[in-house]
Amino acid sequence: MRIWTPEQLSKAHTGETALLSFLFGGVALIGLFSLIVGLTTGEASFLIYFGYGLSKIVAWGTILGFTHEYLLVGEFHWSYMSATAALSILCGVIFDRVFLQTRKHTPRLDYLLILMIVNALVLLGSAIFQIKVAALMSITLAMLLYPVSTVIALVRWRQGSSEAAIFAIGWTTLLAGLFFQALRDMGYVEHNLVNYYLPPLSSFIELVTIMIAMGMKLRRVRLLGLESERQYRRHLEQSKMKLEGLVRARTEELEKAKLQAELEARTDPLTGIRNRRSFLADGELCLKRARRKGEPVSLLMFDIDHFKSINDNHGHGIGDEALRLFSKTIQTKIRETDVFGRLGGEEFALLITETPEDSLYTAERLRNKIAAISLPYPAGSVHFTSSVGVAHGDEGQSIEQLLREADRALYVAKARGRNVVVEYATGHKGEPGSEYSRQNSVAEPA
Ligand code: GH3
Ligand code: MG
Ligand code: MG
Repeated sequence: MRIWTPEQLSKAHTGETALLSFLFGGVALIGLFSLIVGLTTGEASFLIYFGYGLSKIVAWGTILGFTHEYLLVGEFHWSYMSATAALSILCGVIFDRVFLQTRKHTPRLDYLLILMIVNALVLLGSAIFQIKVAALMSITLAMLLYPVSTVIALVRWRQGSSEAAIFAIGWTTLLAGLFFQALRDMGYVEHNLVNYYLPPLSSFIELVTIMIAMGMKLRRVRLLGLESERQYRRHLEQSKMKLEGLVRARTEELEKAKLQAELEARTDPLTGIRNRRSFLADGELCLKRARRKGEPVSLLMFDIDHFKSINDNHGHGIGDEALRLFSKTIQTKIRETDVFGRLGGEEFALLITETPEDSLYTAERLRNKIAAISLPYPAGSVHFTSSVGVAHGDEGQSIEQLLREADRALYVAKARGRNVVVEYATGHKGEPGSEYSRQNSVAEPA
């Protein structure tokens, strides 16, 4: 029995009021904060936590007697305590399920939480219909099942959720408070001011601790989001680079194919030298350049003699080989700036920037080189000669005109018995169109 003095009573009253204001105000603040966070982030767990905080205010307010003291004055009934406790248990367990994601990560233990929810509903029903025995049984079962959430939180912690460990601490604090209250109500612990407020204090600490756990979860989710965004960006960057690489490779391939196609369009497939079209184009350019520089130009036209008989006697393959060897021989004996091409069949043309005298000398030299070619053949070797018609570009002729003139000289060379060089003579060398062999060097066929 304690004897109060008015001062002591006033002091105790002030302390009690301060503690209650702190506890209820704190819970209300946390509830409000959860509501705001829940509404702004759309996180369901925060909204449920708001409900949990609210239910705690109602439950502790009723259990500590304030509901009857200020709201339902003169209407005390045990069922109010049971109903508010049921609401608090209901909100708490629903929150546990959402926060710890028990349905997904601990499906078996989740059934125990569902049992707790059903039991809380039974408690609520017993309170509403005022069935005291059922209420007593279900509140006892609820107390017995309370540690389940701690066990689940520890399991979740072992699964790698660090916030579950904080949750376990919070929930265990609540458990300790409730256990202490049970011991006190059963008379094992002394009734005094401190012991009276220890359970609601533990409930408050639980609320704060779990709030920390929620903050941790929110941070983890945010970091995860950032990381997945980073990964997505990296992936996007890699895909972009891969695509660019593919496009670059494809472009290079296309460019190569284009160059190849252009080369093929310009090249004679058998000999690898210029075809007629390319010879005309490059020859025209060479002519213009030479004229600009004031250089002399001559066109040499070759026609292999009796080529048909090579085909007939040794086969088309040897004929082809003779054409290749012919081109190679000429090509290795001329300058890079000279324009050499196959006009068709066994006819070739060579445009050189040389004086008429030098060009005749070159024509003679090449004719001799051709005559010296020895094409190996199983039954010995094949030899052939070539007639050469030469035209000089000193009259400002086009490439076609030069070709016509060289062709006429070539015709004369054939008529003179082949394997000779014949020059197309213009005005100052004789009558235009008359051809003669300046060299007059008709060699014997090899
Ligand atoms: P000439 O001394 O009067 O020039 O007589 P030729 O036999 O060389 O001339 P002709 O025009 O009668 O025959 C040319 C031959 O060249 C006929 C043709 O079958 C052959 N020929 C043309 N193109 C090719 C080719 O790409 N490969 C082979 N093997 N032969 C070809
Ligand atoms: Mg011919
Ligand atoms: Mg011929």
